[in-house]
Amino acid sequence: MTKQDYINQAEEHLFHVYNRFPVVFDHGMGTYLYDTDGKEYLDFASGIGVMAFGYGNAAYEQALNAQIAKLLHTSNLYYHPALVEAGTKLCRVAQMDKAFFTNSGAEAIEGAIKVAKKYAFLRDGFAGHEVIAMEHSFHGRTVGALSVTGTDHYREPFYPLMDGVKFATFNDLDSVKRQVTDKTCAIILEPLQGEGGIYPATNEFMEGLRSLCDEKDILLIFDEIQCGMGRTGAMYTWQHYGVRPDVMTTAKALGGGVPVGAFLLTDRVAKASLVPGDHGTTYGGNPLVCAAVAKSIDLMEELQLPAHVTELTGYFEEKLEHFTQKYDFVKGYRGMGFMQGLLIDESIPVGSIVSKALEEGLVVLSAGGNVLRMLPPLVMEKEGFDEMEARLTRVLDAFTTE
Ligand SMILES: *Cc1c(COP(=O)(O)O)cnc(C)c1O
Repeated sequence: MTKQDYINQAEEHLFHVYNRFPVVFDHGMGTYLYDTDGKEYLDFASGIGVMAFGYGNAAYEQALNAQIAKLLHTSNLYYHPALVEAGTKLCRVAQMDKAFFTNSGAEAIEGAIKVAKKYAFLRDGFAGHEVIAMEHSFHGRTVGALSVTGTDHYREPFYPLMDGVKFATFNDLDSVKRQVTDKTCAIILEPLQGEGGIYPATNEFMEGLRSLCDEKDILLIFDEIQCGMGRTGAMYTWQHYGVRPDVMTTAKALGGGVPVGAFLLTDRVAKASLVPGDHGTTYGGNPLVCAAVAKSIDLMEELQLPAHVTELTGYFEEKLEHFTQKYDFVKGYRGMGFMQGLLIDESIPVGSIVSKALEEGLVVLSAGGNVLRMLPPLVMEKEGFDEMEARLTRVLDAFTTE
């Protein structure tokens, strides 16, 4: 089949809910992807922050193959070794006490919201509690997760969503305080906002939220689905700030490519929230994904990826600085570690740059506020950043001469 055959057949049978780029990927190797015509692409997207180890890692594939041959699924009515291993390792690297595995990021958010509601219900003896979320946040597409997502156009057609959600301004502690009532049960945020436009939290904001939550017995929920698992140079981004959440969500890179997420809690919250019967999932934490989680954490540590990210962040940022200096329509950059955004002037829709980059053999992403988002695999080396600079220069040059 030709590329166009694939695209035509896809559009005939798949619900058109994505405006996909006209690329048909066939395989990947290292930090490169290849389409069905054999064209090579340097990957600065990682399948939206998932493929931390790149493509074709032999040790990872061997671990998954071994688990497939042994036991694929059991349900959560029973224990299995991979679940024990994944849960133990995840709690250790996340510095949290208890884990619950889900099938996606959105489901991890759903679980976190239920934890907060149940915690407040047990404390107060009644329901009807409120959650404070941030403008420009992104927490997923299920109804609960959408309710705490601060982007109107994702939400509007689906009203009424979950009741009792209030929005505050990211990095503005007073705006959060203004939304607190005696019904507030949780404050949820991404320590480094992703889809909304790559906004890092300030130290003062993170510390202020922790004090506020301690003072009012509100649960602090960090969504580390995109910024966690080594991406910013720590296993989890909150560890840079030294501000520990009560509940944390993780997904995307957690399983190195398989669909898995988790929410994690402190012992204190675990003991005073959900109990057997309150929550569950058929697939969540099945043997296959747990083998992937356990191996991903092993690889993260063996390859010392958080340290690698920290070491190369300056090199990455130098490239972004070059673009900022060279092109008038590049207004700057922001981010942490291997999660960076190049700020593009509104006169050039960032989607057109992403399209042009694909033509030049470079996979990048966009984010809110006309940001060119880059999430390279965490194994990206200096030569990869040099290659990105060369390819993106060709792309941006094309916009200069237009
Ligand atoms: C991607 C993302 C989600 C949703 O995860 P899914 O696996 O797509 O459901 C939630 N929060 C953040 C911060 C994300 O980046």
